[in-house]
Amino acid sequence: MTGKNTDRASVLLIFTGGTISMSEDPGTGALQPLDFDRVQALLPELKHTGVAVDSLAFDPLIDSSDIDPEDWRRLALTIGERYADYDGFVVLHGTDTMAYTASALSFMLENLSKPVVFTGSQLPVGITRSDAKENLLTAVEIAAARENGAALVPEVCVFFEDSLFRGNRTTKKNAEHFNAFESYNYPLLAKAGVHIKYFRSNIRYPKEGLSLRLRLRMAGGVAILKLFPGITEEVVSSLLATPGLRAVVLETFGAGNAPRAPWLFRALSEAIERQILIVNKTQCHTGSVEMGRYETSLNLLRAGVISAYDATTEALVTKLMHLLGEYPLEEVRRRLSLSICGEMTPA
Ligand code: ASP
Repeated sequence: MTGKNTDRASVLLIFTGGTISMSEDPGTGALQPLDFDRVQALLPELKHTGVAVDSLAFDPLIDSSDIDPEDWRRLALTIGERYADYDGFVVLHGTDTMAYTASALSFMLENLSKPVVFTGSQLPVGITRSDAKENLLTAVEIAAARENGAALVPEVCVFFEDSLFRGNRTTKKNAEHFNAFESYNYPLLAKAGVHIKYFRSNIRYPKEGLSLRLRLRMAGGVAILKLFPGITEEVVSSLLATPGLRAVVLETFGAGNAPRAPWLFRALSEAIERQILIVNKTQCHTGSVEMGRYETSLNLLRAGVISAYDATTEALVTKLMHLLGEYPLEEVRRRLSLSICGEMTPA
């Protein structure tokens, strides 16, 4: 272990899997995770970053489509256990669900004061044109960056191609090009060119004197309901009757609008009376929910639907899991309307 035993900045690399650590199966041609030693052998540059880098890996490495809240807990615990030993952390993760994991970790690592930088790649590390090395080496530099002894970006963030995003504001937007992520409703934290330019006024700095607190409980019972013209009462009612349901991210139109059909109002009101939380998330990527602006959102307001403002679906699903796992219902309601770690901009 390198850790804090040297004067150099120190970073712990945590490999969870994803394309960055995969190769083609000679039989089927499908991409599958490599073993960890093979991945490290393909990344000799890690020894020459000027940063003391240690690494560990999930065993086995996984495609991020298989990731679940138990893995998030494992990741948060790993960071918590090694927190004092490193200046920053880099998590190598598949792109498919990276925005969910980064969002979850932003809630689970309360009072974070060190960087946790997620990255991955669109092409496997062994392929000549792969984006893996650049993404990884820049992520390590960002995780190690300090000024007057304090971390420059003490947030859970995502670095991809040339952009550093707040993790809980990201969405995967591209399955083809190297710019896989976007943060539609929040500006960049940094941009990497010849130099890495940090946009300090966009970065969230923690209150001094608070130590890291792990919030490991994540509840189940969260669902997403996406509205569309022609959605039927049977579909909505059967989702709202799901046993164990505790919260629904309702994906609405435009500024948070929905059909005015009386059955929809009834179904949502009844669910809310049964203590199910319904959160209004617009299907638009950019902009915010504004209930009451159009007549088509008045019923939602009357039924007791809660605005998600400009939060992403990824942030909302994980915020609901986190709040329902950690707090009683009244407190969950209160915190849902607050920005906990920069995930939304309440009006
Ligand atoms: N299926 C892969 C994953 O998310 C895709 C990627 O890494 O880009 O693990």
